[in-house]
Amino acid sequence: MNITGIKGMNDILPGEIATWQFLEQEARRIFHSYGFSEIRVPVVEKTELFCRSIGETTDIVEKEMYTFTDKSGNSLTLRPEGTAPVMRSFIEQKLYTQDPVAKLYYLGPMFRYERPQKGRYRQFHQIGVEAIGVDDPKIDAQILAMLCHYFDAVGIHDVELHINSLGCRDCRPAYRQALIGYLEDRLASLCSDCQRRYQTNPLRVLDCKVPTCQEATATAPSMIEHLCAGCDEHFSQVKGYLQNLAIRYTVNTRMVRGLDYYSKTTFEMVTSSLGSQNAVAAGGRYDGLISDLGGPALPGIGFAMGVERLVLMKNSKELPVERLPLFLAAMGQPAGDRAFLLMSALQKQGLCVEMDYTAKSLKAQMRRAGKFGARYVLILGEEELARQVVILRNMDDGSQQELPLGGVEKQLLTLLSNPAPTPAAG
Ligand SMILES: [Zn+2]
Ligand SMILES: [Zn+2]
Repeated sequence: MNITGIKGMNDILPGEIATWQFLEQEARRIFHSYGFSEIRVPVVEKTELFCRSIGETTDIVEKEMYTFTDKSGNSLTLRPEGTAPVMRSFIEQKLYTQDPVAKLYYLGPMFRYERPQKGRYRQFHQIGVEAIGVDDPKIDAQILAMLCHYFDAVGIHDVELHINSLGCRDCRPAYRQALIGYLEDRLASLCSDCQRRYQTNPLRVLDCKVPTCQEATATAPSMIEHLCAGCDEHFSQVKGYLQNLAIRYTVNTRMVRGLDYYSKTTFEMVTSSLGSQNAVAAGGRYDGLISDLGGPALPGIGFAMGVERLVLMKNSKELPVERLPLFLAAMGQPAGDRAFLLMSALQKQGLCVEMDYTAKSLKAQMRRAGKFGARYVLILGEEELARQVVILRNMDDGSQQELPLGGVEKQLLTLLSNPAPTPAAG
């Protein structure tokens, strides 16, 4: 019996990797220009890190974590998100002693035991950003500007920026009570999930997708109306900077976060192109998280983007198709051996070259060259080898020229080092 992969965990195959690499390269390029550095943390952490940071009553911790006991009896968990491990590292490595401001980004797989569906998997990938140590609303606006810049740069335009404020530890408890009071009067109209969680996590009822819950909460009090003076001023300044930067946004008072640690500014990049309205990026401020985890009382703000969803939205046909500059077609063992040497020499010089490893007919080799989209095919048969020449065919216009075999390496490098325009695939 064949061994299969794990349900909800996908292979990313060579045919689709160009889109992934493009999305990752653009993230690195853009985040770098905003002063962010990459951090790589392990995919496994102690379970208590996620219980403490994400919150015991969240869906993630309650039912979605890949938790197991290792051979020493430690409870470990495959990371369900990236913020907690980055904060653990920031605190443990005392990064704050080097610079009071840390601007970090990460890319990599995350794991959640969810029902697999399109764009949502058990191993999924996130690109995330964390800016630690700055309270000022300028950093909120900068993070949002960078997020918009990224979507623009990768050519995903069908998105809308939604922002909200979740208040702070001073003003949220009163709002929470007001919301619980409101929900208590409408308990019968709520779904069973919301009936269960309205006391422990009332904010989540606001973003429940069940229509009766949405109707029941249509007139619910909003956090924005309950912000303390400090939170209100912070949110106004964020909006002011966004206006100055000409960044379009919608204030969405029903937007809440699944994780307990968020405060003040929260945001989502929302799209309707994946069916129902979906967030392709989400984040916010988490001013209490670092001290909750035993670190210094430093504020932070960040976001994460789901790469699988970005890939779904990014039409891979828009990416320029990479063409092979040169294919070597050799007939017969001696010519094959000579072509193999030539290929190795050219590859060492940085040129992409392919050939057929087993002797096939010229026709079969030309077909293979066509599959690679080769710009040129160099033909070397027994007769050419005897005369110490090669035939170079331009695959775009079909023209051919004969070149002396000696010195052909140098000629090919000169010819092929200026890249030809790459027409988009039709
Ligand atoms: Zn507040
Ligand atoms: Zn509900």
